[in-house]
Amino acid sequence: MKYISTRGNAPVLSFEEAMLAGLARDGGLYVPETIPQMATADITAMEGLSYEEIALRVIKPFVGQSFSEAELIDSISLAYAGFGHSSRAPLVQLGPNHHLLELFHGPTLAFKDFAMQLIGQLFQRALKRRGEKVTIVGATSGDTGSAAIEAFKGLDTANVFILFPKGRVSEVQRRQMTTPKETNVNAIAMEGTFDTCQAMLKDMFNDFEFRDGVRLAGVNSINWARVLAQVVYYFSAAVALGASRQKVSFTVPTGNFGDIFAGYIAKRMGLPIDRLIIAANHNNILHRAITTGRYDTSTVTPTITPSMDIQVSSNFERALFEAYDRDGETVTKLMCELKKGGFGIDKKALLSLQNDFDSGWATEESTRMTIKQIYDSNSEVLCPHSAVGVKVANENLGHTPMITLATAHPAKFPDAVKASMGKLPKLPIGLADLFDRPERLTDMPDDLPLMKSLIWERIKL
Ligand SMILES: *Cc1c(COP(=O)(O)O)cnc(C)c1O
Repeated sequence: MKYISTRGNAPVLSFEEAMLAGLARDGGLYVPETIPQMATADITAMEGLSYEEIALRVIKPFVGQSFSEAELIDSISLAYAGFGHSSRAPLVQLGPNHHLLELFHGPTLAFKDFAMQLIGQLFQRALKRRGEKVTIVGATSGDTGSAAIEAFKGLDTANVFILFPKGRVSEVQRRQMTTPKETNVNAIAMEGTFDTCQAMLKDMFNDFEFRDGVRLAGVNSINWARVLAQVVYYFSAAVALGASRQKVSFTVPTGNFGDIFAGYIAKRMGLPIDRLIIAANHNNILHRAITTGRYDTSTVTPTITPSMDIQVSSNFERALFEAYDRDGETVTKLMCELKKGGFGIDKKALLSLQNDFDSGWATEESTRMTIKQIYDSNSEVLCPHSAVGVKVANENLGHTPMITLATAHPAKFPDAVKASMGKLPKLPIGLADLFDRPERLTDMPDDLPLMKSLIWERIKL
C-alpha cells in the first residue's frame, strides 16, 4: 500500500514513512493510493469479535509491508489495554433510534486516545528498528495534546512539544498536559488561538532545514495513521447494531475534520453508512462551506466546546481532494487562496461533498440545554462537544439508527457541565489527584525563530 499527497507533488511513501513524516513535503496530507474494500461477508464476520480483533481487520490492509501481523496484534493489544471499559468503545442507547458511542474511556478521557495510543506503539516500534529518534511537535485545541503526551511520555525514541492556546483550554485539559513528570514531554502555552498553534506547526514543517535537522514528526490528525485508527470504531459500532442487515448513520462533533473523515473512509471501504453528519459549534465554517460552497475564515469565537474552536480545518483538505477527483493541482490552488482568507468550491465538487456529508450546528445555549435534557431523560452526562453532536443528531433522526460520537468525558469540562445541569461531573479515579500535581509549562509568543531555538535547546539536553 502506497500513500500519495493531496497536493500531488511529494514523494510517494509507505505506511510507515507516511506515519513518521506527518505532513507531506509539498504541504499536502497523505492519503492511501487506493481504498481497501470490505465485502459484506467480511463485515458479517466481524460480529461478536473484540474491538482489538476488528481493529486488526480494518487496519491491516492499509499497512502493507510496514508492520507484520504479529507486530500489529501486539501494538493494538498494548494500545487499548489501559482503557477503562472492556468493550473500549461502548454504545449507550439514548432513544428508540439513537445511540451514543462513548469514545472517552481512554487514559486522557477523549477519543484522541484511540489513535494516539496506537501510534505511540507504532512509532516506538518503527523507530527502534531504524535506530532513530524524532522530535514530535503537535498543535492542540486541548485533547490532542494530552493524548500525545500520555502516549509518548517516557519513550526513548521521541521528544515531544505540544503547543496549546494559552487560556483557551479547560483547566483539566491543561493539567493533563502540564503534570506528567517525564522530561521528554514539553507543554508550550502559546499566545493566540488553536489556528495560531497549527499555523506555527505548519511553518516548522515547511522549513526543511529545521524539519530535517530536528527530525520533525507530526501527530496531529494530519497524520494518516491517526485517521486510520479512528476508522475502527465506525466498524465496531455499526457491526454492533447489525450493519450487515441495516445501514446506520453517524453524527460527529467536528473541528479539524479528522474524526468524520475516518467515517468517510469507513463508508468508502464498504461499511453500510447512510448519512455522515457534521456537527459544528458557533464557529461553523464547515457547515457554511457545505451549505454555501464558500469556505471563508473569520475570527474564532471561544465557546464551551474549545476542541471545535477552529477556522482552518486541516483534514477538510482530504475531503476536497476526493471531491475534486484527486486533482492535487486544484487542491494546491485552493489552499493558496485559503491562506488569503477563503475559497469557493466549484459546483461539481460541492455536489460530491453534499452527497457524502450533511451538516448542522448548535448554539451555546442549545448545547447547554442538550446537556440538561439528556441528563434529565437518560441520566447520561454529556461533555459539551458530545452535546453539540446529540443536538444536531436529534434534528436528523430518521428510520436508520443514528450513532452520535461522544468525543470526551464530561469531567474534562466541569465548568460548562455544571453551568448546564447544576452539578459537577466526577473525575474518574485515575485522575482524582490531578489538581494536586505540580505543573510544568513554557509560555511562548507567536514567534517562529524563538520557538525553533527553544526546541533545539531542549532536544540537545
Ligand atoms: C478533537 C475533538 C473534536 C474534534 O475532532 P476533529 O477530528 O478535530 O474533527 C471534538 N470533540 C472533542 C472532545 C475533541 O477532543
